[in-house]
Amino acid sequence: ARAQIGVTGLSVMGRNLARNLARNGFTVALHNRSVERTRSLMAEHGDEGDFVPSESMEEFVASLTRPRAVIVMVKAGAATDAVIEELTGLLEPGDIVIDCGNTHYTDTIRREKDLAAKGLHFVGTGVSGGEEGALNGPSIMPGGSVEAYRTLGPIFEKIAAQVDGVPCAVHVGPDGAGHFVKMVHNGIEYADMQLIAESYDLLRSGLGVSPGHIAAIFREWNRGELESFLIEITADVLSHEDRSTGKPFIDVVADRAEQKGTGRWTVQSALDLGIPITGIAEATFARSLSGHVDQRQAAQRTFEGRAGDVDPAGVVEDPKQFVEDVRNALYASKIVAYAQGFDHIQAGSEEYGWDIDRGAMATIWRGGCIIRARFLDRIRAAYEETPGLESLLVAPYFADAVAAGVESWRRVIAAAVRAGIPTPTFSSSLAYLDALRRPRLPAALIQCLRDDFGAHTYQRVDREGTFHTLWAGDMSEQRVDK
Ligand code: NDP
Repeated sequence: ARAQIGVTGLSVMGRNLARNLARNGFTVALHNRSVERTRSLMAEHGDEGDFVPSESMEEFVASLTRPRAVIVMVKAGAATDAVIEELTGLLEPGDIVIDCGNTHYTDTIRREKDLAAKGLHFVGTGVSGGEEGALNGPSIMPGGSVEAYRTLGPIFEKIAAQVDGVPCAVHVGPDGAGHFVKMVHNGIEYADMQLIAESYDLLRSGLGVSPGHIAAIFREWNRGELESFLIEITADVLSHEDRSTGKPFIDVVADRAEQKGTGRWTVQSALDLGIPITGIAEATFARSLSGHVDQRQAAQRTFEGRAGDVDPAGVVEDPKQFVEDVRNALYASKIVAYAQGFDHIQAGSEEYGWDIDRGAMATIWRGGCIIRARFLDRIRAAYEETPGLESLLVAPYFADAVAAGVESWRRVIAAAVRAGIPTPTFSSSLAYLDALRRPRLPAALIQCLRDDFGAHTYQRVDREGTFHTLWAGDMSEQRVDK
């Protein structure tokens, strides 16, 4: 046995991760259910490093030094369970099974428990960066035991993206913590993309300019605080022309956004934990809405030419100011989406006892992953300065950024509403800020109504205790907590 780490599941992601490991000097055991994938990897890239290919799972396990570390990179769900089952029959106590797939964190918690009972370590690991990241340096979010990370840490930190000499890999916390954080990362990715899409829509309809023109605006924005991978590729996409028609490429792509489900998982989890991640939720629903083609067509037919069918023309008075307003609104909304995502991480951490360091999460998202961005450094700094920060929005840098952009933000949303351009994530993010900062919320009325129809009780602003008013009786108030 001589391989330091193994990879089973050599489709796009597994193959690239294995090549990344080998290129970084690790001896990598290879296995795939159908041997063709293993053979083609050896034929095409066998010279990139030290690979030990195996055709059977037994041979694969036997080729690893102890404690054995096996990365499972197969289809998430039942396939992952089947492979883990097969592996556990062959591994010995102290060995480590690493699931790098997009697994729901509750599955990871379950599997960790099962494997721990057999004396095995199970490390649910979030990997972001797609194919390209897997090959050249992803962002790696491993859960599992501290003991397992002692073995895996040096490997992960070597193959991860590096930013300013700091690896984009860190031990996130026990059992499902890594997959949980990866899930929230993907949720934030949904919000980021939706905000960019709303910005594009506003600029295109509001200014009446071509996608190529908007690409130049995004390229300009990428030189400032919005600098990020997603802004950069947005400029690339918008400047691309369709090869067959010569039209702007974006105009030949069907406007129905798909999803593999991590946004939905994030929203479901946030609902369970009671965390208002409105930006991510709106972004997820916006994708769903875009896919309801029958409803969209029916609404287009029904409302065409009717009152309220506003034309964007003339809504923008000062084009230069409008571009700056959209930029400010985008940045402020993005800050809200991240603030909510980090609140969600904190809530998960408390619920499951993971003790996640939010600053460290911002650090490992600076490179390798899809949401990599310049401003993650600011988030890291904010949590380093104040570990118990109530919200990112109240950290001095972010508070200043939002306050400086809020006038623009209101102008953009007002213009969007007048023009009939939907901006669900821009609008809900501003509503979130306005709700947080408002001294009195109408929640008091909701409490009254709940007490009226359901005797659900309420608290008062001027006295301790829990009360109920006899709404259907003589309207007298009773204290009910004694
Ligand atoms: P796929 O999700 O397409 O899975 C294909 C691989 O799974 C093949 O190696 C296939 O083997 C294997 N497989 C499927 N069913 C079984 C089974 N029952 N038993 C054994 N092996 C099985 O591969 P990807 O490389 O696209 O993704 C791998 C994982 O990474 C997934 O969980 C995915 O969600 C995640 N992913 C993560 C991304 C990221 O950015 N982090 C991006 C893309 C994916 P065979 O060749 O024999 O069919």
